[in-house]
Amino acid sequence: MGLTAEQKAEIEAQRQATQPTRRATVPALEELLYRPLPVLDHGFVRVVDYMGDDSAVVQAARVSYGRGTKKVSEDQGLINYLMRHRHTTPFEMCEIKYHVKLPIFVARQWIRHRTANVNEYSARYSILDKEFYVPAPEHLAAQSVANRQGRGDVLEGKEAARVLEILRDDAERAYGHYEEMLNEREDGTKIDGARQGLARELARINLPLSMYTQWYWKIDLHNLLHFVALRADPHAQYEIRAYAEAMLDTVRKWVPITCAAFEANGIGGYRLSAGGLAVVKRLLAGEPVSQEESGLSKREWRELMAALGREG
Ligand SMILES: Cc1cc2nc3c(=O)[nH]c(=O)nc-3n(C[C@H](O)[C@H](O)[C@H](O)COP(=O)(O)OP(=O)(O)OC[C@H]3O[C@@H](n4cnc5c(N)ncnc54)[C@H](O)[C@@H]3O)c2cc1C
Repeated sequence: MGLTAEQKAEIEAQRQATQPTRRATVPALEELLYRPLPVLDHGFVRVVDYMGDDSAVVQAARVSYGRGTKKVSEDQGLINYLMRHRHTTPFEMCEIKYHVKLPIFVARQWIRHRTANVNEYSARYSILDKEFYVPAPEHLAAQSVANRQGRGDVLEGKEAARVLEILRDDAERAYGHYEEMLNEREDGTKIDGARQGLARELARINLPLSMYTQWYWKIDLHNLLHFVALRADPHAQYEIRAYAEAMLDTVRKWVPITCAAFEANGIGGYRLSAGGLAVVKRLLAGEPVSQEESGLSKREWRELMAALGREG
C-alpha cells in the first residue's frame, strides 16, 4: 500500500480533528474512519464518511419522530424481518463513502454496480502511480476445468516463476514507455528538455489492466449489501472478493445488527427455486430423490447438494 509521507500525514491530521454533532455516530466506525485498510499488494479501502446507523433503519421502518428504537431485541427482530422479507428501503437510509485503490481489471468488474456514486482519479489530469498488481504465489492458479469463469490448481515451480516474470516485465516495460511518451518521470521531473511529451490522456492507453486506479465510491446500505453479496461470494474473482470482504468488516462495525441479519439471511443463507424446494421437502420426508428425476439441471442439483452439505 504505497502511501507517501504526505498522504499519511493528511490522513493522520483528519483522524485527529473531531467536532461535536447531534447526528448519530458509531464509535467502532469512528475508530476506523479515514484509515486505509490494505487489500492486495498495493490497494486499500478506507471509510471517509458515513450517515446513519442501525437505529436509522429502525427509525425509517417505524416512521418515527425520535430515534425510533425500542429494546435491542425488538430492533433486532424488526431488522431481521425486514431483511428476510426483502423490505429494503429502510436500509437505503444509511450511506457510506469509501476511498478505494484498486487494479483497473477489478475496477472494470466493480463499476458494473450502477447504484453507487463514483468519482475516479483522472489519468488525463494526473500521472498514474507506478504500481501494478502481481498475484501472490498462492493465487497464481491454472484455468479451472469445472468452471469456465474460475481458477483451478495453483501453478508451481518454473511455470509459476515464468508467469510472475512476464507479469512484472510487461508492466515495467509498459510503465517505462508511458514515462518516455509523457517525457516525464513518476516524480514529475522532465526526461528530455528538448521534447514536448505526449498528452497524459494518450500516453496512458498502453498501460496494463494490472495498474492501480483510485476512486471515491458512495452508496447506500441496501445497495452496498447487494454488492457485498455478489462480490464476497465464492463465485466472484478472488481479487474483487478481497475488497468485498474488507468492506464487509467495515459494515460489521458500522451497523452490527443489520450486518448480522445480512449474514444470517443474505450471504449466509441460500435461495431455493421451486424445484429445489420440492427436492428438500422430499428429502425431509425421507424419500430417495435423484438429479435425473428431480427436474433440476446437473448444475442446480450440484449447487443444492453442496448447500445442504450432501454428496451429489
Ligand atoms: C460472479 C459474477 C460473474 C459475472 N460475470 C459477468 C460476465 O461474464 N459479463 C458481464 O457483462 N457481467 C458479469 N457480471 C456482472 C453482473 O452481470 C452485474 O452487472 C453486476 O454484478 C452488477 O449487478 P447489479 O446489476 O445487480 O448491480 P447494480 O448495478 O448495483 O444494481 C442493483 C440493482 O438495481 C437494479 N437496477 C440497476 N440498474 C438498473 C437498470 N438500468 N434497469 C433495471 N434495474 C436496474 C437491479 O435490480 C439491480 O440488481 C458478473 C457478476 C458476478 C458477481
